[in-house]
Amino acid sequence: MIDCSGLQYTYPRSEPLRFGDVTVEQGGKLLLRGPSGGGKSTWLALASGLLTPSAGEVLVSGQSVGALPAAARDRWRARHIGFLPQKLHLSEALSVADNLGLVFFAAGLALDKAAVAKTLHALDIAALAARKPSQLSGGQAQRVALARALLLRPSVILADEPTASLDDEACAASLNLLSTCASGLNATLVIATHDARVLQALPLARQLGFNTAAQVAA
Ligand code: ADP
Ligand code: MG
Repeated sequence: MIDCSGLQYTYPRSEPLRFGDVTVEQGGKLLLRGPSGGGKSTWLALASGLLTPSAGEVLVSGQSVGALPAAARDRWRARHIGFLPQKLHLSEALSVADNLGLVFFAAGLALDKAAVAKTLHALDIAALAARKPSQLSGGQAQRVALARALLLRPSVILADEPTASLDDEACAASLNLLSTCASGLNATLVIATHDARVLQALPLARQLGFNTAAQVAA
């Protein structure tokens, strides 16, 4: 469950970004919709504790994310949030399997190679385990990043513009995979997007609107 109220964030020398209030039940879906520059990525950074609100709060499963001290917040994020960033940030020095292994390190947990293998298998990319990120197609790299996001069975999945560079067929497949994976974990799924195809594919999702004037209509 996500509960966001009175949330604001102010970048240095900028007007505050003000976000609408929204509540999403556990296992529900939320679309952050609006043009580039509206504050969608900022909202995701607040919900995952990468940024601290200037005002208001966002509760994830009852936890006020901004209230956690820094080190605890990093561990909390690693264990509870599955983040699918717009830039995938896979380490080129490591194989696909070892990129996933890093997740355990970030969460302060012992490496579970069986869980890595199981997740790669579930996403149909077990054959890619030994490859380096540069040896993947764009779609394969996105699957690897999704596997990484799902590995610790997060309660919330945050995806930043996951369909931006995809053709219609790949867009539908990607949204289908995200939805199926979120449902399988009963995770709350949040997708930031300015892609109209996402709303068509997920007509029942809750929506939070953003615009470039940073005034938000819920
Ligand atoms: P979106 O994801 O909807 O495109 P962002 O959250 O990336 O929007 O950006 C919202 C606003 O905040 C934009 O006006 C952007 O220029 C500004 N912004 C984003 N990151 C920074 C930053 N690190 N410093 C200053 N302003 C920023
Ligand atoms: Mg963005």
